[in-house]
Formats: sequence, structure tokens, C-alpha cells
Amino acid sequence: MNTTKQALTIAGFDSGGGAGMQADLKVFQERQIFGTCVLTALPIQNTCGVQKVYDLPLEAIKDQLAVIAEDFDIDVTKIGMLFSKEIIQLVSDFLKTVDFGPIVLDPVMVAKSGHALLKESAIQTLKEELLPLVTIVTPNIPEAEILANMSIQTKEDMVLAGQKIQQLGVKHVVVKGGHHIEGDLSEDVLVLDNQESYWLKNKRIDTKNTHGTGCTFSACMAAELGKGKSVLESLQIAKEYIQAAISDGIDVGHGHGPTNHWA
Ligand code: PLP
Repeated sequence: MNTTKQALTIAGFDSGGGAGMQADLKVFQERQIFGTCVLTALPIQNTCGVQKVYDLPLEAIKDQLAVIAEDFDIDVTKIGMLFSKEIIQLVSDFLKTVDFGPIVLDPVMVAKSGHALLKESAIQTLKEELLPLVTIVTPNIPEAEILANMSIQTKEDMVLAGQKIQQLGVKHVVVKGGHHIEGDLSEDVLVLDNQESYWLKNKRIDTKNTHGTGCTFSACMAAELGKGKSVLESLQIAKEYIQAAISDGIDVGHGHGPTNHWA
């Protein structure tokens, strides 16, 4: 018997290979957990950005979830682009009926190119229906501002936002400081359900090749959680992993090249 832990990503598509479902599956493979996937939406994109997003029929998303549940023993679930309130409702209703392990939510809202990956009308459903089911949510600062309904200017604000997001029912929150707080460091804060908080710091890297950073980071966290690591350990591993992946980001395409991690 050659068994392995099994992960599911519920995510959007990237023909450019650097973000979304494609990034998640690459990370799962490298972190040695078997990856399955459910497509939620079809963005037309490359390293230069997202041009448009095609909807999938809701029935097609439902059917994909059903065949995964029929056939696999999922140990961890990662959720990325959800796009609409109808998809969020469908995914939330489904997750209530299965035990697919801890749930990591990357609350994808806007691509670096500025294109919306989540409709504004979907945010309330994300907060009310999905967040209470989630083990750990990984917003960057703009996403945390929207989820916590506050502006974030300081490190103290990051912790406060994490606590406010927890009040929506999610267990743990990591607020990623990456792009938005001044200084040489990229600092993230983990707010645990026991109210302890931990700061994780790395040197900021000056590069344009950052496409898929959030997806890669949260996929690595999910892989480690799926293999049985604690939330804090998984986060520490993911922080180092994304640091290396940003520093090895590659110049493919003509826009923001993807983060990259050779095995
Ligand atoms: N496309 C998809 C399908 C995604 O899930 C994400 C994730 O955030 C992105 C694009 C974002 O890409 P970028 O890192 O360039 O903002």
C-alpha cells in the first residue's frame, strides 16, 4: 500500500500557471500531499493580469464536489477564489455535510492587476456563511480591512483586525503585512483562538515576480496542516516557503512572473 494524505483545493484557474488552482497543485505536490481540485471560475489571465472571468454553471461546481466526496478521504481543504455569493453559499452548504479536515481560506478579492476575483455583493455571504466553517483565514491588509471593517495603519491595528475577524466565527487568523506596512521587513501576525498572537518576520524582497504569492503561501499552510502539523508550525513553514518562492520568482511572461520553488 502506498498511501498519502490528501488535500483539496477549491479555486479559480490560471492559464499562466502561477496562481489559483495551478499554484496550489504544484505546492501540494512539492510538500508531498496528494492534491485534488474543484474549479470555481475561469479567469482569462496571464502574468500581465486578468482580462475577464467566465462563470461556471453552479451545477458543475456541485458535481465536482460530489465526485471528490465519493472517492477521496480528504485531510485538508484549501479555498481560494470563490467569485460570487452563489458559489460561496454552495461551497458552505457542501462543507457542512462532509469532514474534509481543517479548512484554510485565502479570501481572494482582487488580483494584482486590479481585476475583481470576488464580487462585492459576495463579501457578506463570505463573512456570514463561510468564515464560521473555516480553521484559518489568511487575509492581506486590504482584505483584512474589508473583513474587519476597519482601517489598518499600524501593527497594533493588524492584531485588532485579526481579533475582529475572529469574532465572525473563524478559529485562527493570519494577517499578512507583506506589501503595506513600511519598513524592510514583511511581518505577518497570527491570532490564535486562545487569543495568543505570534509575529512572523522576514526580509522584504524587491521583485516584480510575485504572481500567486497568496495562493502559494496558503497552499503550503494547508499541506502542512493536512500532514498533521500545528497551526503555528504550518504557518512558520509556509512563511519560509513563500520567502524562498518569492526570492526564486521567475521571469516568464511579460508581467508579474510567478513565485517559484524548485523541489
Ligand atoms: N488568479 C486566481 C485564480 C487566484 O486565485 C489568485 C489568487 O489570489 C490570483 C489570480 C491572484 O494573482 P496575483 O497574485 O497576481 O494577484
